Amino acid sequence: MPQQVTPNSLSGTVSSLYIHVPFCQSKCYYCDFYSISTADSELFRLWHETIKMELQRLKDEAEVNGVSILPLKTIYYGGGTPSLLAFEFLSEELELCRDLFGIAQDAEITLEANPEQITSERIAADWLSIGFNRLSIGLQSASNHLLHVMGRRHSREDARQAVTLAYKAGFRNISLDLITGLPDSGMSDIEDTLAFINTLPLTHISTYALDVPRNSRFEKMLVADCERFPDDLTERKMFHRIREVLINRGFEHYEISNFALDSFQSRHNTVYWRAQPYLAAGPAASSYLAGIRRSNPASLLQWKKSVEGDGPYSKTNITEIISEEEAMRESMLLGLRLLLGVNAKEFQQRHGRDYRLLFASQIEELREKALLDFDGETLRLTPEGENFCNIVFREFV
Ligand code: SF4
Repeated sequence: MPQQVTPNSLSGTVSSLYIHVPFCQSKCYYCDFYSISTADSELFRLWHETIKMELQRLKDEAEVNGVSILPLKTIYYGGGTPSLLAFEFLSEELELCRDLFGIAQDAEITLEANPEQITSERIAADWLSIGFNRLSIGLQSASNHLLHVMGRRHSREDARQAVTLAYKAGFRNISLDLITGLPDSGMSDIEDTLAFINTLPLTHISTYALDVPRNSRFEKMLVADCERFPDDLTERKMFHRIREVLINRGFEHYEISNFALDSFQSRHNTVYWRAQPYLAAGPAASSYLAGIRRSNPASLLQWKKSVEGDGPYSKTNITEIISEEEAMRESMLLGLRLLLGVNAKEFQQRHGRDYRLLFASQIEELREKALLDFDGETLRLTPEGENFCNIVFREFV
């Protein structure tokens, strides 16, 4: 008898929401995210009113699009700089989410923030009072000379103050972002940043290797003087040092670029890595619903037009319809990012297939190269595989 296939990856049941806030005070030299440098309150209001409309339409038109929205377990305000938003806007939007979808009692609700906006305990206490319980703060480096090189608006002391005030206000889940491989950086900057973060009450660290986007200030810098950028080997050394120190401090390395204490893994991002569905609102935001990926237009005005027109389930925003075969590849590709790896039984339950047979040649080749390890239950990256993860991922694209 053929085995029953349960295409979980194509399930329309969703309980995560991403909201993209497209405003920044200025553009950092390495940034590729969609954001506008503005302080124009009219644009902020336009965004807020349109987000409310989009949330309403996500709810109203869910059923006919095969989507069933459960009380939200994770909400993530990313950007851009969500901490620039007026308290009233955030409060009204979360209230609307509560009314429309419901919010689970133990939901993880994250706000991305830049240090220079957290200037008083009151600001952080206000965010807590409306339901935010996790802050993701963009530090990038604790070295003032590197913050300057990146075009960041905060100093090391601003970051210390921000985390301290947020903690005093009651935040018990605070994450910091770091970047390795920055121009003019060396191992001493990494040691300096590690010493700095050791003094702070953090539960989570994300650390990414610098990726130089096209047409960015960093690209011009790279073309003018590539010697300013550490080579790949040095960048890996930086990452390994961060990894070593964080693990010694009790952090778990749970995803290629992420470390967490105890149970503080990012639940929202884990939804992405597990290829589970999520709703999205805001310009340039991408959703994955009922096996369909959509991306909103990366323009404030085009997005507004789209929300008022065909709405968030629009066909024109579709970027990919994920077939079952693609869903299986994604389960491998994304699942291998997690250091727990991809479990054969879970894969079987989700896709009704055995990945050891489906991807036998890729697995064998990557095991021969010592990039993957299989213990009979779970396939995971070896330490060498972590360094060359792009070679591994290419095999499953
Ligand atoms: S604050 Fe964040 S989103 Fe804005 S430009 Fe800098 S890195 Fe990009």
